Amino acid sequence: MNKVLIFLLTITSISCSSDPNGKIITVSGLISPAQLGTTLAHEHVLVDFSGAANYTPENYNQQEAFDWILPELLKLKAHGVQTLIECTPNHVGRDVVLLKQLTEKSGITLITNTGFYGAQNNKFIPVHVIDMSAEAIATFFIAEFEQGIEGSGVKPGFIKIAVNRKPLSEFHAKLVRAAAIAHRATGLTIMSHTGPATPAFQQLEILSEEGVAPSAFIWTHASDEKDWHKLVEAARLGAWISIDKFGWNASLLNGELLLYLKNEGVLDKILISHDAGWYDPNKPDHPFKSYTPIFETLIPNLKVKGFSASEIKQLLVKNPARAFTVEKRTL
Ligand SMILES: [Zn+2]
Repeated sequence: MNKVLIFLLTITSISCSSDPNGKIITVSGLISPAQLGTTLAHEHVLVDFSGAANYTPENYNQQEAFDWILPELLKLKAHGVQTLIECTPNHVGRDVVLLKQLTEKSGITLITNTGFYGAQNNKFIPVHVIDMSAEAIATFFIAEFEQGIEGSGVKPGFIKIAVNRKPLSEFHAKLVRAAAIAHRATGLTIMSHTGPATPAFQQLEILSEEGVAPSAFIWTHASDEKDWHKLVEAARLGAWISIDKFGWNASLLNGELLLYLKNEGVLDKILISHDAGWYDPNKPDHPFKSYTPIFETLIPNLKVKGFSASEIKQLLVKNPARAFTVEKRTL
């Protein structure tokens, strides 16, 4: 083979291997969806609720946080968990250097995000962002996708936004539009802290105006909606439904909601998780919510209710692999 051909083949294989399309972006780089394994789709390691004006990684001792969090991640191995989707947004304690150290020492795959968290009345939004256009906000998300986060080389595996639990404000509508624009450019899935159905469907409407399919959207904290049929409606449109309060809401652990969703035929659109962790440097005793009730309580209850091993695998393995694959999902 001549040297030019070898050179061209090398270049081609390098560019193919760095193409995130059809892959999943972890804090350690790209993996194939089949490598994701058993996945908790919504957890946190460290959170800092100081607010965008006061948050800085200097607020805490990274080594102390690492020592605290690592054993909690290691407990997941006994349950066969391979991946944890780390949903802490920028300005709420997203620390990709810490995540990289944790993934290296624990062997648990971690996935981080780009985005802005608008819930709690924009406390976590830097003031200059409020008046930016949707396009300008999207440019920031896209830059993190292309160049990595804060010079760390770590790239986001999804877009995380958050809106208040009521009809969307003008700024929150803009945030959703920015996420849609960034999705079109990157193929990153949009996870939105939402809660009730009203803002969930309003967000799907904005996505539709921007030509983005519901399958690019994760309705997060969906179990806060009391009318379970709304979840089915959104799932039938193609949206991902995140039942992620298993760390907070003990009554959810009986599995009734999941049984309802199974009987409605939408199990292939459901993600499950605890929304747990939350090492908070501002709390002196650092209370930490365990990542294990799904394995200790929920799954045994699901088995009693007749869930098969393959249905449980659907929730913990197959669905997250599809939901977090980088793919432009346009209308
Ligand atoms: Zn959360």
